[in-house]
Amino acid sequence: MIKFDFNSIPIPLSGKVVEYICPKCKVEFEAPIEMVLEFEQEDEWNNLPISTPPYTICPKCNYNNCVPLDYKSNRGFHHKYKG
Ligand SMILES: [Zn+2]
Repeated sequence: MIKFDFNSIPIPLSGKVVEYICPKCKVEFEAPIEMVLEFEQEDEWNNLPISTPPYTICPKCNYNNCVPLDYKSNRGFHHKYKG
């Protein structure tokens, strides 16, 4: 599990994280909840279905469709990664 480096971002964050996995290189890593919520908000603005995972970038291989391992979204969908 790659821990999120909170010192890398100059704005105050709550410290809450969501665990992610990269489907490509299988590395697991943390993303701050504020970042995840922002991706969700963008998906909503883009009228994407609530089942769309808030994708983020892999810190190891830069693959940009990493998904949450187990995360209940603000939009009311339970995202669960099935290997
Ligand atoms: Zn990766």
